[in-house]
Amino acid sequence: MELEKIKGVGPKILKHLNSIGIYTIEDAITYFPRDYEDRNNIKPVVEMKDGEMISFIGETSIIYGSRRTATGKTITKILFKSEIGYLTGVWFNQPYIKNTFKVGESIYLFGRVSRKMGEIQIIEPQYEKDVDNVPKGIIPVYSTNKYLSQKVLRKIIAQALNYIDDEISECIPESIRKIYKLLDIKTTLTNIHFPKNMQFLNLCRRRIKFEELLTLQLGLFLIKKRLIQSNNAFGIPVCKEMKDFKESLLFELTGAQSKTIREILTDMKNSKPMNRLVQGDVGSGKTIVAVIALFNCARNGYQGAMMAPTEILAEQHFESFNSFLGKWGIRVGLITGSTLKSKKKEILDKLASGEIDIIIGTHALIQENVQFNNLSLVITDEQHRFGVRQRADLINKGHNPHVLVMTATPIPRTLALFLYGDMDISIINEMPKGRQKISTHFVKGTGRDKVYHSLNNEIQKGRQIYVVCPLVEESENLQVESAVETEKNLKEKYFMNYRVGLLHGRMNSREKDEVMHSFKAGNIDVLVSTTVIEVGVNVPNATVMIIENADRFGLAQLHQLRGRVGRGTHKSYCILISEAKNQVALDRMKIMTSTNDGFVIAEKDMEMRGTGEFFGVRQHGLPELKMADIVKDIDVLKETRDLAREIINKDYLSLTEYSLLMNSINKIFNEKAENITFN
Ligand code: ADP
Ligand code: MG
Repeated sequence: MELEKIKGVGPKILKHLNSIGIYTIEDAITYFPRDYEDRNNIKPVVEMKDGEMISFIGETSIIYGSRRTATGKTITKILFKSEIGYLTGVWFNQPYIKNTFKVGESIYLFGRVSRKMGEIQIIEPQYEKDVDNVPKGIIPVYSTNKYLSQKVLRKIIAQALNYIDDEISECIPESIRKIYKLLDIKTTLTNIHFPKNMQFLNLCRRRIKFEELLTLQLGLFLIKKRLIQSNNAFGIPVCKEMKDFKESLLFELTGAQSKTIREILTDMKNSKPMNRLVQGDVGSGKTIVAVIALFNCARNGYQGAMMAPTEILAEQHFESFNSFLGKWGIRVGLITGSTLKSKKKEILDKLASGEIDIIIGTHALIQENVQFNNLSLVITDEQHRFGVRQRADLINKGHNPHVLVMTATPIPRTLALFLYGDMDISIINEMPKGRQKISTHFVKGTGRDKVYHSLNNEIQKGRQIYVVCPLVEESENLQVESAVETEKNLKEKYFMNYRVGLLHGRMNSREKDEVMHSFKAGNIDVLVSTTVIEVGVNVPNATVMIIENADRFGLAQLHQLRGRVGRGTHKSYCILISEAKNQVALDRMKIMTSTNDGFVIAEKDMEMRGTGEFFGVRQHGLPELKMADIVKDIDVLKETRDLAREIINKDYLSLTEYSLLMNSINKIFNEKAENITFN
């Protein structure tokens, strides 16, 4: 129903409502509060505790002037009084605020208490002068913008709720609501905006989370079911040369690698397409797993493709694949954005005719003109770097090929459960033998000199060093500048007798290649780089990773960078340099120095950043959750997962009782379903 039905909604307000995503009355009803204010908390001023949220009704007593602090802030104070005591309102950098108050005027305040040196303050409180009409009880707080006040939005939503009967229907069957003790939808929606009390609010929140997670997982199961039904023609047996191939390797596979390989080969035998995620911390040896899968594919006469997120990585894979597979007569090709036109044409022709067995590439692989003869295995490396669409595009170049996805970004178990609901997961949780723990140190700016001087020793032993330059905001240009500068500086100050190289995103791919080759060959001692080396790069002789302004990087990214060292048998170090003094930054550095476990780091990262921000969810093309949090609401997640599985297995969705639930799944997955691939 149109919003114009609501009193007070004219063209202007309508526009503002649209700007926060409210287009219909239904949208307004389901626009959930981001927080609540419990305005019931009124007490004598002396009893107010530091940090608590309180309501206060009184009058403006004294308007003090503003003053400037040593750090240049202005502080404006206003004294309010009532029969329960005096309270000082404090505002920062808003000197004009004093003009909005008049001595003697009655006032309602709501805000956070701060007790400072005997003074009881309320910091930048909300205020209302129409004291008699201040909303009481538990008040919703919405996400909004400066054009649409909380007050107006509250009024509109309160009115929208009058239309609830016409707008909203119950989609969870009564039988389920009974078993899981869920409130009905009307009670829930009314009380989610204006709750009677906090306990009841929790019941409402549970009902909404339950519905969100249930519909979402049902949708995922349905898509998955559809995928499984579409068999392909590629039951690929284990080739007879497999044993010889494994024995020809220069190292022995770890137990975890062997297990993963077994799982993959078993999947590939099946005519049902494989859909498997290989998750292994940086350096755990995922590449060889991909090599073996592709070897098996090629020996059986099929084509395989592997997509990597950067040219450097694609090049590196191309070389190592060639060295592993070339001697078996397997033809490997490479396509990246900078493959020369003539060369590209040749490769594309051979790919289409089947004269290339394995193709490695970047995003260039998903261009329209890339065609295969009989693509049957698709691998994406470092999957978190690709969007859902891109991966789907590559998969669609074959006819339901087997799909293998590799990631070093450790996805916390809870998130994996949700994202990969029914994708099979192999975990490589064991490092190759002989690896030594990377020791990580946090160094303040003042210690920089000492760090760089101490590197002489390491270089003399024949080892190599990475220096990663600070991210300068999001600007690539500035980042490049800082890398150029750092290189110059290091050369002049510390490494005049050594070979210093430079690598950044503004170099063309031939230049990048040359630098990488020469670093790999040991012809560069110190490589100054931007984050272009973040993922996948493998130079086992490099043993020191120095990260400047380490506080500017995310934890997951720091862990990835650190993973560039410790790849051989030599003792390796990661030095995090930072001038940051704030607690959050220090805490983050502490996490890095205290653990090498990517899973622990990912969990912490997610805790600190919140799940919404955590890489993945949006990128996977999944519908957004309005209220449920896949980490905090793990219990509901499990509950609904089991229920969803039962509903699908017993085919309940075809029952009339479930038809509204089915509608709501379709609505949520509308359009989106197409885009979701389970990798
Ligand atoms: P990642 O999992 O980060 O992709 P890589 O596949 O690049 O790791 O492997 C890291 C290094 O470990 C490579 O030099 C690789 O050759 C080596 N490696 C892989 N598996 C083993 C093993 N089982 N024993 C010894 N070295 C191994
Ligand atoms: Mg890798």
